[in-house]
Amino acid sequence: MGQMMSQPLLVSSIIRHADRYFGGNEIVSRRAEGDIHRYTYRDCHERARQMANAIEALGVKIGDRVATLAWNGYRHLELYYAISGSGAVMHTINPRLHPEQIVYIANHAEDQLLFFDLTFLPLVEAVASQCKTVKGFVMMCDREHMPQASMVTNLLCYEELIAAASDRYEWPLFDENSASSLCYTSGTTGNPKGALYSHRSTVLHSYASAMRDGLDVSARDVVMPVVPMFHVNAWGLPYSAPMTGAKLVLPGAALDGKSLYELFEQEGVTFAAGVPIIWLGLLTHLGQNNLQFSTFKRTVIGGAACPPAMMKTFRHQYGVDVVHGWGMTEMSPLGTTATLQNHHLSLPDAEQEAILEKQGNVIFGVDMKIVGNDGKELPWDGRTFGDLLVKGPWIVSGYFKDEGGDVLEDGWFPTGDVATISPDGYMRITDRSKDVIKSGGEWIGTIELENIAMAHPAVAQAVCIGVAHPKWDERPLLVVVPKPGADVSKEELIRFYNGKIAKWWTPDDVAFVESLPIGATGKVLKNRVREQFRSFNLPAA
Ligand code: AMP
Repeated sequence: MGQMMSQPLLVSSIIRHADRYFGGNEIVSRRAEGDIHRYTYRDCHERARQMANAIEALGVKIGDRVATLAWNGYRHLELYYAISGSGAVMHTINPRLHPEQIVYIANHAEDQLLFFDLTFLPLVEAVASQCKTVKGFVMMCDREHMPQASMVTNLLCYEELIAAASDRYEWPLFDENSASSLCYTSGTTGNPKGALYSHRSTVLHSYASAMRDGLDVSARDVVMPVVPMFHVNAWGLPYSAPMTGAKLVLPGAALDGKSLYELFEQEGVTFAAGVPIIWLGLLTHLGQNNLQFSTFKRTVIGGAACPPAMMKTFRHQYGVDVVHGWGMTEMSPLGTTATLQNHHLSLPDAEQEAILEKQGNVIFGVDMKIVGNDGKELPWDGRTFGDLLVKGPWIVSGYFKDEGGDVLEDGWFPTGDVATISPDGYMRITDRSKDVIKSGGEWIGTIELENIAMAHPAVAQAVCIGVAHPKWDERPLLVVVPKPGADVSKEELIRFYNGKIAKWWTPDDVAFVESLPIGATGKVLKNRVREQFRSFNLPAA
């Protein structure tokens, strides 16, 4: 046996480390109260210890679930450490879900306490009486911002709990495989299912995701997670930023282009992470006001395919490098990132861009493969596509309370995505398997069709869906949100595909809409679009 110290990998060690070695580094938050708050990792650690005492005094025990309904902010960060660090399970609930789903999730998780930002008081008032196991609802503000009266019984004030609690608290040591946090999948079909992360998986994911070819987080960075802390732990940044000593900027509820831009500039943000739809708002604001970034250098975009047109705009117009990332709630979430290798650096720009547009290479710890209908592994030739399976120490082995039964296939987790893998291991998602268009017995991947449409200057957003066809089973319909004031015809958009893809992949028709339905995690809800266009009559071929 080796003779190294046996030290469990625990979430609490991250904030302790940040305090001890980067204690003066800042955490800046836009608060629900409307102002900007700033303090340091040292302050965060102190208040997290106070909150750990407070929740224990409220009866929370090791393994209990404690929920939050909150934006990205310093109090939410304190809870990440107070709850997990004390051995309870931090359960982030997505406030954008339907109230019925929130009730289902809180009851399924058997949450003991529910912390919420003041924005969510009406939501909490609507659901509180149905959350059967919750013994206390804690509003994340000071006494001054508490309501005079409320329908919520057992309403507590966050700052009062902190003020009454001692900061003398020793983070307990326990098995690193204990549960640390819980996040439910958005559940577009059926009930949401819980991914239950462990301390070990969280710490390993933080190490790996901070690597240069991962998210590349360091003490020289000013990091802004725009991706919410209620969506897969903001891609692990609330752990990897303190782990590396990066300054953290937490944007709160103001995710419009103007508010984000102001924060980027005021705080000198160098690195930010988010889903494509958020960046669309930011880029529109920059374009309309003729603005440039002074410090912003790099962004990781994932959660949905990043259109190549968006990457080009970031790179060429604003000098911001885009790292395309792929992952999922069940993967903590990081699986792959698209970055170049030394031997790519001499390639022409267009070839480098083609590599960077893919979802990329795995970070160490994750392994992937693609399989056909028969479950047999398919070749890595960059053309053959199949179901994508993954394995690794921060990927679920099942869902919370064994919901959905045995989910692994021969030890691999089926992602539900369809992908190709190139000979040098770069993965490209062609579709979600339920979104693939089946035309004449062949598959048409919709992401490529959408990416092409979004490269047209008149197109703001585009989705491609399969519509029933008497001869071919399904044919592609392109649904487009035009840019404000843009004028473009169906024929022109269809002509735009000429020479870019196989002719039979070209959409049969185009429908224009004012907006697309967006889900709780910022993705277009394709099943809603399909529903909307279910009886759409395609032109006769
Ligand atoms: P979620 O669990 O909500 O994070 O959703 C995970 C799913 O989002 C994945 O299985 C993919 O279908 C999709 N996704 C995430 N990142 C990307 C990406 N870069 N390109 C295409 N799809 C993505």
